[in-house]
Amino acid sequence: MSNPFRLPMVPRALRNLVSRPATRRYPTEIRPRFDGARGTILFDVETCNYCMLCARRCPAAAITVSREDRMWSIEHLTCIGCNVCVEVCAKKSLTMSTEAKHVHTHAEVGPQGQRPGHEEWHGVDPAIAAAAAAAAAAVAAAKAAAVAAQAAEAESLSGAPLG
Ligand code: SF4
Ligand code: SF4
Repeated sequence: MSNPFRLPMVPRALRNLVSRPATRRYPTEIRPRFDGARGTILFDVETCNYCMLCARRCPAAAITVSREDRMWSIEHLTCIGCNVCVEVCAKKSLTMSTEAKHVHTHAEVGPQGQRPGHEEWHGVDPAIAAAAAAAAAAVAAAKAAAVAAQAAEAESLSGAPLG
């Protein structure tokens, strides 16, 4: 019968018992991302004019844009991180983050009912935005007028004769 301590794997097994693992202890130990690494597309709803160029040029068909509904959406699980949409967007509404976004790969739908990896934005209609701005300006003007009237009344009272 052969001596088990003479088997070729034994020194390796003994070394493994006292050495650190060759792999990282993910997720507690996360590898820093390399410079220039691509992660997740970020969208700025304030600057997008819904020209649809990013959707037309996306090789993975990950972006959907509706000009009529002022809707922009992306399927993060379909995106291949090629950066084409960022390069073609004239409004600079898209940027490539180096951070990977967590998406729900194991659920049929996400916690808010969305599809896994689906992100959807709805811009405000310019007419509605203009009406809201006008209403806010009118409220501000009314407040300023009320403050001015109060100040004038206080001034007239302070100058009135006592008695
Ligand atoms: S993100 Fe840029 S390219 Fe895409 S629809 Fe908006 S403005 Fe156009
Ligand atoms: S990075 Fe590439 S694949 Fe991803 S949404 Fe932009 S164009 Fe499409």
